[in-house]
Formats: sequence, structure tokens, C-alpha cells
Amino acid sequence: MGRGQILTVYLISAQRLRARLGKDGSSLTRYDKSDATTDWQKKLTPEQFYVTREKGTELPFSGIYLNNTEPGAYHCVCCNAPLFSSEKKYDSGTGWPSFSEACGTRGSDENSTNILRRPENSSGSTRTEVICKQCDAHLGHVFDDGPEPSGHRFCINSVALKFKPSSGQ
Ligand SMILES: [Zn+2]
Repeated sequence: MGRGQILTVYLISAQRLRARLGKDGSSLTRYDKSDATTDWQKKLTPEQFYVTREKGTELPFSGIYLNNTEPGAYHCVCCNAPLFSSEKKYDSGTGWPSFSEACGTRGSDENSTNILRRPENSSGSTRTEVICKQCDAHLGHVFDDGPEPSGHRFCINSVALKFKPSSGQ
């Protein structure tokens, strides 16, 4: 399947989601979730929307930040919160940008970071989802086979990130 076709699938699924929210009247109307969805769709590209708001995954080795070694910070593509630093980026060989810890991590304390971990229990999977604490964007997953000392491997979709080079670089 070509990249164009995949993007088409993303678009169709986004349209279905919007249709579902629109039809599902009463309980959703109060919180205006339909509008919130529409806003993200306006703000994001179809691929960004699919990954961050519909928990999609970009194709491995396809992301623009996979081989980026510039110093700087990786922010949430949706809300701009700083998430990861280039200092903790490494090549895990998996095909997705990988980080050993999130910005603001102190020892094993992630309270000051902008990420949250959420267990994912779908289809027998025991993976841990990584989401943005500020806007609930799906970012990727975290595994415990990363480099020492943290031992964490945050596998994050390039599409969910916006890289900002360090000033003066
Ligand atoms: Zn965010």
C-alpha cells in the first residue's frame, strides 16, 4: 500500500469519527466534543490527526526526526508543550525516534514532565501508551528495554512532535 493510499485511509477514518460524534447527539453536545474534534482537524494535518487524536502509528523509518541529531527540544505538535530533549535521544534501531527519558525527569520521577503513561489493554497487548499531559495527544509507547541508567525506551512518532533547535545553533 502506497503512502497516498494510507493517507486516504487516515482521512476516511477521521471523517467517520467526525460523523460518529456528530450523530451521537445528547451526551456529547453538552461538552461540545464535536467542535473540539473539528478544531484539531483544522489545526493538524490528516497524518498528525490520525496519530495524535486517533492513536495511530506512523510507518517505521518514515518519520522526519528519526535521524535528526541536532541539539534542541521536541515539543508536542498539538499544544507545543516541551516533551523530549535531543540529549536523551538515541538510535534504538526500531524505526521510530527513541528517547531514554522525558524532559523534566528527575531520577525516576516524571511528575515534572509533560508526559503521562497509560496502560494499553487492547487486543491482549500489555504496552504502555505515552500521551501528552497537557492535551492528551497520543505520542507513542514506552518500553523497559532502553539504555542505562533509565532503562526506558520511549518510541515516539515523529508526526506527534515539533522540533525546535537550541538557540544559537
Ligand atoms: Zn500536547
